[in-house]
Amino acid sequence: MTDVTEYEYDLLVIGAGSGGVRAARMAAATGAKVAIAEDRYLGGTCVNVGCVPKKLYSYAAHFHDSFDDAAGFGWQLPGPASFDWATLRDNKISEIKRLNGIYQRLLEGAGVTLFNARARVVDAHTVMLKNDQGDTPVTAHKILLATGGWPWVPDFPGSEHALNSNQIFDLDNFPKRFLVLGGGYIAVEFSSIFNGLGSETHLIYRSELFLKGFDQQVREFTRAEMERKGVNLHFNTNIERIEATETAYNVYLTTGEMLEVDVVLAATGRHANVSDLGLEALGLTLDKQGKIPVNERFETALPSILALGDLTAGPELTPVALAEAMQLVDHHFRDTVPKPLDYSTIPTAVFCHPNIGTVGLSEEAARAKFSDIRVYSTDFRALKHTLSGSHERTLMKLIVDDATDVVVGAHMVGEEAGEVIQGIAIAVRAGLTKADFDRTVGIHPTGAEEFVTLRTLTRR
Ligand code: NDP
Repeated sequence: MTDVTEYEYDLLVIGAGSGGVRAARMAAATGAKVAIAEDRYLGGTCVNVGCVPKKLYSYAAHFHDSFDDAAGFGWQLPGPASFDWATLRDNKISEIKRLNGIYQRLLEGAGVTLFNARARVVDAHTVMLKNDQGDTPVTAHKILLATGGWPWVPDFPGSEHALNSNQIFDLDNFPKRFLVLGGGYIAVEFSSIFNGLGSETHLIYRSELFLKGFDQQVREFTRAEMERKGVNLHFNTNIERIEATETAYNVYLTTGEMLEVDVVLAATGRHANVSDLGLEALGLTLDKQGKIPVNERFETALPSILALGDLTAGPELTPVALAEAMQLVDHHFRDTVPKPLDYSTIPTAVFCHPNIGTVGLSEEAARAKFSDIRVYSTDFRALKHTLSGSHERTLMKLIVDDATDVVVGAHMVGEEAGEVIQGIAIAVRAGLTKADFDRTVGIHPTGAEEFVTLRTLTRR
């Protein structure tokens, strides 16, 4: 048995992103002696180059539609609205700096020691911290790897001209012509953002339809809505090569077409950020997806070394990392044994325009899982757009297991879909039935009330 007191810390966390910071603070709150090492910004991807700045930019892009919508409600603007990229970018930079400060104060307030250093695990209880002052070994009873993910860009001629999602936020100049490669969350979100901000926007995706894994009807509906808003979608297409000219980038596509653009973003997925962590020397191997295998207690093959968040299997989402951090602390620093996390009904939103919100199973997954399902769906023009003149439509959809009447999936494409689905997610997580939805009185007039007034069966 090892004597815990021989170590400098009870927990040393590597990586001050969403999961790492939450675990550090919560562990410290139990009385544990905790340190966290970070060599970049506090708050990780979500705060600095992910969820938060992305949502701020998405708000900015929505104003485009709002200005167009306003006239039907009697508002007249003094002239055509114009957009200033530098104002948005610099306001965003100030806000993120403010959040970095909040994270620092949260950690300090919780009594967590913050090391501004690059960390490398050298043995089951020792981490080498490296910074300008040199290398310092620090020991801990438990070490938590929480270094998240890092954008990955495929190798093709000229791929060095493509930016990744870490580099897209602070562009010096606004791209009049923007191209994104990929068909996942980041590609659809950033094509909506730059399209809304006024760029000529192209999305290049290698297969038939973007957002693989989402409900097919949701994907098709989103395609139609994004096209209506002016995003140029190129499916069954990839980039062959990118050539830089004096003023732009010529992007040659596999279809033979060439697009001249100002910025190319590669949104082609993220890989676990394990470089230089020292895992190989410890004998810690990655799974087929390049993730660190852990058990229910978030222990790697070396039980004193823990891992969570984007480093491990499971959805790469901030709330998942936060939930895992709470579980991890319960397991290792409290006397509770929590129920294993249920990853099956994790709601998610894609902040494309209009937004997608989804929880539970897609129609296709439900069909594969249950012998009979009922699908209720509606597709309508929101009340607001009767006066705005916008042709934007909203899709709402419930999927029900026929045998039990339980709602196993809820999907929406439309304004504030994430906000709506967050509420619906409680019902789906609770295993409520379609009859429970039907018994719920609507809030009128809202779009969300459609979820409790869907009575007509669309298909089985
Ligand atoms: P995703 O994994 O969602 O999508 C990656 C896309 O790149 C896929 O469409 C994939 O195609 C395509 N791709 C992969 N390899 C290549 C290649 N060699 N050539 C061409 N295309 C390729 O990753 P993202 O980068 O969009 O986002 C990373 C993760 O971050 C997401 O999975 C999500 O978990 C998280 N995230 C969450 C957000 C949210 O909650 N709103 C917002 C942004 C990110 P294919 O589909 O064919 O595999």
